[in-house]
Amino acid sequence: MIHSIQRKLLRVDLTERSIQRSVIDDEDVTIFLGGRVLGDIYLYRELLPSIDPLSPENQLIFGTGPLTGTSAPGSSRYIVHAKSPQTGLYMNSLAGGYFGPELRKAGFDMVIIQGKAEKPVYLSISNDNAELKDAGPIWGMDTQDTQQFIKSDLQDDKVRIACIGPAGENLVCYAAIISERRAAGRGGGGGVMGSKNLKAIAVRGTNKVQIADPEAFKNVVKRAYKDIAANEAVAKGFPLYGTLMAMPTLNDGGITPWRNWQNGGSDKAVNLYAQTWRDEYVKKDVRCSPPCNLKCSKLVLSREGPHAGVLTEGPDYETEYSFGASCNVTDQAAVIEADALCDKLGLDTISTGLTIAFAMECYEKGIITSNDTDGEEILFGRSELLPKLIHKIAYRRNFGALLSLGSKRMSEKLGKGSEAFAMHAKGMELGGYDPRGAKSLALIYACGSRGGCHKSGGAANGQSLRELSTGTDRFLNQGKAAITQSFRDSRMIADSAILCAFPYGSLSPETILSMLNAATGFHWSKEDLQIIAERGNQIERAFNVREGLRRAWDTLPDRILNEGVKTGSTAGQTVDLDVLIDDFYELSGWDLKTGIPKLDTLKKLGLHMIAKDMEMCIKE
Ligand code: SF4
Repeated sequence: MIHSIQRKLLRVDLTERSIQRSVIDDEDVTIFLGGRVLGDIYLYRELLPSIDPLSPENQLIFGTGPLTGTSAPGSSRYIVHAKSPQTGLYMNSLAGGYFGPELRKAGFDMVIIQGKAEKPVYLSISNDNAELKDAGPIWGMDTQDTQQFIKSDLQDDKVRIACIGPAGENLVCYAAIISERRAAGRGGGGGVMGSKNLKAIAVRGTNKVQIADPEAFKNVVKRAYKDIAANEAVAKGFPLYGTLMAMPTLNDGGITPWRNWQNGGSDKAVNLYAQTWRDEYVKKDVRCSPPCNLKCSKLVLSREGPHAGVLTEGPDYETEYSFGASCNVTDQAAVIEADALCDKLGLDTISTGLTIAFAMECYEKGIITSNDTDGEEILFGRSELLPKLIHKIAYRRNFGALLSLGSKRMSEKLGKGSEAFAMHAKGMELGGYDPRGAKSLALIYACGSRGGCHKSGGAANGQSLRELSTGTDRFLNQGKAAITQSFRDSRMIADSAILCAFPYGSLSPETILSMLNAATGFHWSKEDLQIIAERGNQIERAFNVREGLRRAWDTLPDRILNEGVKTGSTAGQTVDLDVLIDDFYELSGWDLKTGIPKLDTLKKLGLHMIAKDMEMCIKE
């Protein structure tokens, strides 16, 4: 049958320099859908527990979904799975742009990279052909020059490239994978690529993604675009301000953390609002690739002053939060430059900004001094420090070697009470939404499978806005687990289809289901999709349990649990995590005492092999 899942897998063993093609099992596609959940089960099956994330035994799994490369809105995305060098746990990271669709047009649904090349290489895929090429001349180059070089090396301007910069080569645990100017940022996938001596993957595909029922698909896609247009907040707000659309609401609601999470919101935040700087900096509204009319991304240019000539795509809300609010920097041009540098050097903007903010607080408290910081005064608000520190991190030079560890490992090295304000969960720096102002968010960070990411267990921006609309109920700890559970499950399907969360939020479950069934010719029901989402949750959880995770790991920094927010509309709030977690475990089918998935939950989902593994973990 012709349909949008080609089931083709490319496996590249860098140690052996071997390239093999195989077929993804039909049953796997039916019960794990694609994208995130399909990658989850592959990662679980292929990796042995306890491997070093930076060793040849780790894998990078580049995956697409049944809708990638089609005309579905927001479908130009790919996902990468690995064991994270940042958390030592499960990792996935998604990015928009042309790379994912190109991989599908080349005929592959998934590419697995294993082993380690003797010397730097890049993988070139052109339709069904794949070969490893010498990356010696580009090792050391930034991500933008790398992409240019490969295009000219292959004499093909249309080739799409996912690559690393110096940060990935230097094994920074929060290095990103960059395609065009878009990052698969969270969790350190860039470091895993660097550890394999893999500089880039270049893809060129000239085939069309097949659709099982083109007429039905065309009609449902039309309906989807209509639904998005009817959601006024999204249809008008995203094209103008992107993810920064909600920043004024979040800041006023005390959800945007300032000064390394000491304060909830700031009256200086207006400088960071896209509503303030759009006219001055935005050169062009841009989108990932054609199937999306929201154009949420902003090509920005600093036209004058010390940052004149800096051009980048962004910054989004998370970057304004990390380099702006967290570091107490209100110079928008400095935030733009920090964003541009992270993209070029291949760093995750959230972890980079939060680690710098953590260092600023350590300096303020005298835990580090100028003897540790190459003579610099690392003070909150000093925007001119950002480019220097970002460079040092990417090259792990001098003080940058300490910063490159991230806030968790830094705090373990420094001690002196700094652990209390290292703002991470399981080693990943937190996204820009303070759970003290919207209690359900605590579960996203504390129980999310990839650590303290705002997307880890759901969609923190939508969830924050929904909590804010409940008035003072947002401060209640009780009754919040169901909100996180529903956002988490919905996100799991979006990440598996794969669809961008922004247009996805305007689509009904029926529309999404009809798109998937028309594209694939399968007959999934809404219940089937719910079961697939639950399978994903349990596989990711089991992966982490196999690595040693138990209930005590599902926690948050002491600042959130015991130190009230100092200023703003959330002043005095803390989080009672135990109450929240009990409810969430109950709904998730996890044992209250240990946090291990219950065996009958796993068996009901058909995850018998994982149930056996969990039985062993229970006995340990
Ligand atoms: S909403 Fe933005 S990130 Fe999402 S698909 Fe559209 S342009 Fe890309």
